[in-house]
Amino acid sequence: MWLHIYPVCNGELLLNIINIAFCTTNTIYQQLTDKPTNTNPSGIYQLKCNTCNNAYIGQSGISVTIRHKEHICCIRTNNPTLAYTLHILNNRHEYGMAEETLKLLKSCSKGTKMYCWETLYMQAFYQHNLLIAEEQVNDINPQYQLAYTARDLLRVP
Ligand SMILES: [Zn+2]
Repeated sequence: MWLHIYPVCNGELLLNIINIAFCTTNTIYQQLTDKPTNTNPSGIYQLKCNTCNNAYIGQSGISVTIRHKEHICCIRTNNPTLAYTLHILNNRHEYGMAEETLKLLKSCSKGTKMYCWETLYMQAFYQHNLLIAEEQVNDINPQYQLAYTARDLLRVP
């Protein structure tokens, strides 16, 4: 319900009560604050390095815990094809179990939206000096300025 107050021609104020017929469920605030319901979803995740505490931001169309296992497998087989693997192997830093290093940042399914969320989180982590150096962020896109200001909403550490 909204209250709408406006002047009428004789100088009095007229009070109107407006009932809202519908309300959008797709605002930026709702997008940033909705909680994932699936316990093992796909989406945007962070993988923390146990040595320097910086993070890799990734996207996964499959379960993020399965994706974590792929990263660990690449490390154990000395296969530095992923930025996180490259970081761990080249710097001789420590990786860890999913429970301590993996965090789902945003549950979403594969597609254009997922790329936007990944870019937003990469820029947020980059701007707060929390991104591993092996993960490149080229130009800061002004459309992602939210990444700098909405640290709490994005749950950036
Ligand atoms: Zn590290």
